[in-house]
Amino acid sequence: MMENKDMLKDYYKQMGISEPVYEFCHRMEEGLKERFAKIDEVAECNQMKVLRAMRENRLSEACFAPTTGYGYNDIGRETLEKIYASVFHTEDALVRPQITCGTHALALALMSQLRPGDELLSPVGKPYDTLEEVIGIRPSNGSLAEYGISYRQVDLLPDGSFDWDGIEKALNEKTKMVTIQRSKGYATRPTLSVERIGELIGFIKERKPDVICMVDNCYGEFVELREPSDVGADLVVGSLIKNPGGGLAPIGGYLCGTKECIDRAAYRLTSPGLGKEVGATLGVTSAFTQGLFLAPTVVKGALKGAIFAAAIYEELGFRVVPDSKESRHDIIQAVEFHDPELMVAFCEGIQAAAPVDSFVRPEPWDMPGYDSQVIMAAGAFVSGSSIELSADGPMKEPYAVYFQGGLTWEHAKYGIMMSLQKIYETGKIFRNE
Ligand SMILES: *Cc1c(COP(=O)(O)O)cnc(C)c1O
Repeated sequence: MMENKDMLKDYYKQMGISEPVYEFCHRMEEGLKERFAKIDEVAECNQMKVLRAMRENRLSEACFAPTTGYGYNDIGRETLEKIYASVFHTEDALVRPQITCGTHALALALMSQLRPGDELLSPVGKPYDTLEEVIGIRPSNGSLAEYGISYRQVDLLPDGSFDWDGIEKALNEKTKMVTIQRSKGYATRPTLSVERIGELIGFIKERKPDVICMVDNCYGEFVELREPSDVGADLVVGSLIKNPGGGLAPIGGYLCGTKECIDRAAYRLTSPGLGKEVGATLGVTSAFTQGLFLAPTVVKGALKGAIFAAAIYEELGFRVVPDSKESRHDIIQAVEFHDPELMVAFCEGIQAAAPVDSFVRPEPWDMPGYDSQVIMAAGAFVSGSSIELSADGPMKEPYAVYFQGGLTWEHAKYGIMMSLQKIYETGKIFRNE
C-alpha cells in the first residue's frame, strides 16, 4: 500500500507540481509548524467567540426563512445583527445584503455620522483608493466634500509610527470623526495591530472625548483575538465578501458599534423614520450566519497561506511584506518581483490552481483609474471575493503582487506551490540547485 505522503506527492505531480518545487515547499512548510500552531490557537478562541454568540442569541432554524418586500420583523436579520454585536462586543450592529461592498459600508459609516461643517480626520495617512472619491480627495459626485464636510490627513512617520504631534495639532473644534484603516491595503505602510489602534484611539479620545472613532476593519477580522471595538472604536466596518463572510456570504457589509452610531447608519441606509426595521433578506441569512461560523477557520487557512508564501519567496531572495517572521494583523501578503515575467507567472499559477476558471490565463490589462496595466488572478465561487485565493498588482516597479485568501489552507498551499511552479518554469530560479 502507498503511504499517505507518497500518495500526496503523486497527487501534486499529477496536478502539475514538479519534484524540485514539491521538495522545496515541503521543506519550507516543515519550518512553519510552530507558527501554524499559534494560528490554530487564535482560530480556536475565535471559533468559541462566534459559537458562544450564536448560542447566547438563540440562533434557530426559523432564522433562515427568507423574507421579502419590506422585511418587517425579520427575526433572522435581527438575530444575526445581535450575533455580530456579541462577537464584536458592541451595543448594536447593521449586517445587510443591501450594503453592496466594503466601500459602500465605509461610505455609509462616514455619511451617516458626518454633517455639513464637520471635519473628518485620518491619522494614519491616505485611506484606501476607493475612499478618495467618497471623501472627495479626488472630486466626485456626491462626495463628503460636496456636502461641506472637510477632510484632514496626518501621515505616518517614515518608520511607520504615529505622528503624535501632527495628530494633536490636526484635532480641532470641527473634528467630528476619525477614520483608521487597519490593513495596509495596497499601500506600503505597515498594517496596524489592534493594540496600536487602541493606543491611537486612547490618545485621540483623551484630547477630544466626543469624536467618533471608526475603523476600516477590512481583511483584519479574526486575525487576532481582539477586534478594534475591544479597544475603544465606536464603529468597525467591513465587507462580507472578505473575512467575516467566511466565503459563503454572496454579498454584504457590516457595521458594528455604539447604538447611536448604528441608529444613524440605519436611518441613512434605509430612510429617516424606518432605520433598521426594514430590509428584506431574501434568503441570504443562512449563508451570512454559516459564513460567520466558518470565518475563524477560513481566516486561519488564509493566514497560513500568507505565511507559507512569505517564507518561500523570502527564501528565494525576494522582498516580502510582511516578512515570514513578523506578527500578522491582516491576511494580505505582498511579494516584490522586480520582474514583470515573474509577476505574470505568479498570477498564472494562482489562477491555474483555482477551483473556478482554472483554464483561463490572466493577462495584464488597462484597468480604468490606474496609471499602469494591472494583472489579476481570481477563480472564485463568489465574484470578486477576496477571501478566496486571489492575487493582483500593478505592472510597474517594484512589480509587486498582493495576494490573499484561500478558503482552506490546503487550497492556499496548492495555489502557492502552483505559483512557484510557474516561476520555476521561467528558468529564473533554482539554477544552482
Ligand atoms: C477591500 C477594502 C476596501 C473596499 O472594499 P470593496 O469591497 O472592495 O469595496 C476598503 N478598505 C480596505 C482596507 C479594503 O481592504
